[in-house]
Amino acid sequence: MIIFGTRTKFLNGSTATANCNHCGSTQTVRLSFALNYFHIFWIPMFPLSKTGISQCGHCKQALYANQMPDGLKAVYNEEKAKVKTPWGYRFGLILIGLFVLFVIAVIATSKR
Ligand SMILES: [Zn+2]
Repeated sequence: MIIFGTRTKFLNGSTATANCNHCGSTQTVRLSFALNYFHIFWIPMFPLSKTGISQCGHCKQALYANQMPDGLKAVYNEEKAKVKTPWGYRFGLILIGLFVLFVIAVIATSKR
């Protein structure tokens, strides 16, 4: 039995703030980003997608990327590029790559 699927991890690193169009507060909107990744036995294999939302600290209005006004969306795209995926979420691919190298090395050294 192989346990696999997708999981979500919240990413830190965005400190940008923006003005709220809903309540008019200045610099109260914060962005949060989450990473979806594929796992096998809870070992991260590879990242699937990075999504984010904005939330106003004053009126608590939360918006998905497709609901954001243009000004906020520009800040969102800038921050999304800045928030990096930790290398550990490619651990499965690194393991597979090392295994392939190992198999190639064994084949290459076993020839007579
Ligand atoms: Zn607000």
